[in-house]
Amino acid sequence: MTTLVHAALTFRRTVRGSYGFLAAAAFLVCLLLGVFEGPLERLRLEHAVVGVAWLAIFGARFAARWKKEEAEGPAWIDLELGLLILVAVHAAIQIGGGLASHGYAAHYVVVAFLASFARRPMGHVLVLCAVGLEVGVHLLAEDRADDWLPLALHAAFTLCFGLMSLLFTRVEIARVREVSRRELEDEKEKVKTESRMFRLVSAPSAAGASDEERLVRSSVEELHHQVYHVLTLLQRTLGLHTCVLLMRDDDGDGLRIVELVTESDHIAEGPFGAGEGAVGAVVKRQMPMNLRNLKPGYKGLCYYEGPALVRAFLGVPILDGGQVRGVLCADRIDDRPFTESEELALQEALAQVLRALENERVFVQLERTKREQTILYRASQALGAALDEGAVIEAGLEAAGDIAPHDFAAISFYDPDDRRHRVKRAIGDGGETFEGLTFRDNTSLTAMAVKNRHYLPYRGDFDARQQTVFTKRANLRGMKSLLILPLVVREDAIGTMILAARRAGAFGPAIRPTLQLLANQLAVSLSNAQAVKRLEEMATTDGLTGCLNKRAFLEELDRKLRSATRFGRQLSLIVTDIDHFKSVNDTYGHATGDVVIKELGALLRRVKRETDIVARFGGEEFCVLCEETDTEGARLLAERVREELGGTTFQTELGELRVTASLGVATYPEHADDGGGLFEASDKALYAAKHGGRNQVCVPE
Ligand code: GH3
Ligand code: MG
Ligand code: MG
Repeated sequence: MTTLVHAALTFRRTVRGSYGFLAAAAFLVCLLLGVFEGPLERLRLEHAVVGVAWLAIFGARFAARWKKEEAEGPAWIDLELGLLILVAVHAAIQIGGGLASHGYAAHYVVVAFLASFARRPMGHVLVLCAVGLEVGVHLLAEDRADDWLPLALHAAFTLCFGLMSLLFTRVEIARVREVSRRELEDEKEKVKTESRMFRLVSAPSAAGASDEERLVRSSVEELHHQVYHVLTLLQRTLGLHTCVLLMRDDDGDGLRIVELVTESDHIAEGPFGAGEGAVGAVVKRQMPMNLRNLKPGYKGLCYYEGPALVRAFLGVPILDGGQVRGVLCADRIDDRPFTESEELALQEALAQVLRALENERVFVQLERTKREQTILYRASQALGAALDEGAVIEAGLEAAGDIAPHDFAAISFYDPDDRRHRVKRAIGDGGETFEGLTFRDNTSLTAMAVKNRHYLPYRGDFDARQQTVFTKRANLRGMKSLLILPLVVREDAIGTMILAARRAGAFGPAIRPTLQLLANQLAVSLSNAQAVKRLEEMATTDGLTGCLNKRAFLEELDRKLRSATRFGRQLSLIVTDIDHFKSVNDTYGHATGDVVIKELGALLRRVKRETDIVARFGGEEFCVLCEETDTEGARLLAERVREELGGTTFQTELGELRVTASLGVATYPEHADDGGGLFEASDKALYAAKHGGRNQVCVPE
């Protein structure tokens, strides 16, 4: 039963996506069986059966496409539906008299339709299928397998229709896309210009490009709304023909209409020269202009196309920091000059516009600051939560990406002892080539940023031909913006954070302070992580020799014993003790004794294998734990240590000194079945070495 269900499911899955081909094959078989032959006087039963089957399949597949439920992708289903339609058209043509029938032209229309509307690449495939189907029909039904000319003509036409349709549709789609893209760009540009006129934007900020755009757009809209409201009110109360707010461009050259309420159909689009006519006079004199008794046809109002009908004009300048930023203009058709109280009303309205402008400016600035703070707050949380150096660096780089989108980011460290810089982490374009790079203290921007504890380069621009980030050979390429921030802890720079972007002006003055704050925080977190690492090391290592201490060694022994038990492996322990060490101390002094202990520690670490562990167990006693090592292997290692130590000469104030050591070896599970037993057995062997005359290696008997 389950096999049957399984087979059914497999069949269904296989058939899905190929209903179209099945239908085409069925159609050709029907052709062969002569289902479509004969004059169509009445609908025959076979036609009805074929038609119902076709409708059922087409309906189901069409519904599936409609619901977009097909897992194998929508393009396949387009192919299926297209093939089903082609089959239906061919069936109709067959019933209507075959390839020679008048209805054949419909085939071209259908091919053109399918080529246009099926998704890529199925449009192309369908055109080829249409040609294939025609060949099939020609061979099976037309009974003219030797006469290829009509077929070649049909196929060529089908191909032509299909490909032309494909081409036209694609070109049309590309054109429409281009038009919408341009419209969108224009709209964005308009918002940008206006936001600059309103002085809402200064430079890219840390809030992130899209957030910033949204914020500014909503502010510009809000301002339009408020200004429009004020202008409408003025128009109604003062009986104005036109009331218009003009503002100066960012560069101060021209005037643009910001908002306007008018009864005229002849408003010019602008921008207008800032010195033109009556409005220009307001700008120049920085004073209101009240013109009366204007002659009909007066040409001094730049915002009208051609001569104006108005008889009275009042222009009031918008003064901001001693500069004219715009002009509020009002005019009337009836010969009624503007009175003093009307001028006051206009001034009052202007003050309201200015307040709205100032409010929006403050709002945008506050919003921006709030967002920057949110990002920094999140970053500082992430930095605080990161425990080790790697995690701190990742958190720092991620936060930098939130604040300023970039194409390359790196963290470098400076080691003042050997005066070298090292790129600890580098991500983005070419990151892998720079990661791990070390270079001497040079004149690169990275080195200079560390030296001066100041960000570089000053303007944030980068030119690879003139500036070096790391070294001349390993320099960043293809970037136009660069910012190297020193990571300062207390008085010193421990390294840098490097950000680079392909676009120009990515790290301007608006964004730099925020990034510097992040860099400071990153520096503190990094130095904390490094301090924690040092503390951890101190807790597990011996200060004199740098070997593990007793506590850490016992923990390791425990772990290694468990793993040796689990995997049935051997584990050997070597204990060493310097011979007559007391007399070394007594004769040469404690300091010389320390030098000897240090040398033995270094020697043990030099000769041990990667997986072996060396610890100073106290005084002049050391232990070596050798993983997967039998007694003989450990004995050979101990012997080598004994020989090398014995062959070492120490220079002292009292002349040359040579020392020897005795070593004991024991192996788990051969000589003991736990840690305590292992120590006991190796101690016993050491004791035997001492008693055997010292300067020798002993193993348990
Ligand atoms: P033996 O051959 O039997 O081992 O004789 P020994 O003199 O070496 O005796 P033992 O191993 O008991 O002596 C250990 C001496 O090591 C005692 C102590 O003065 C000295 N010692 C312990 N710790 C230190 C250290 O940190 N520095 C120095 N210089 N000497 C140490
Ligand atoms: Mg000792
Ligand atoms: Mg000793």
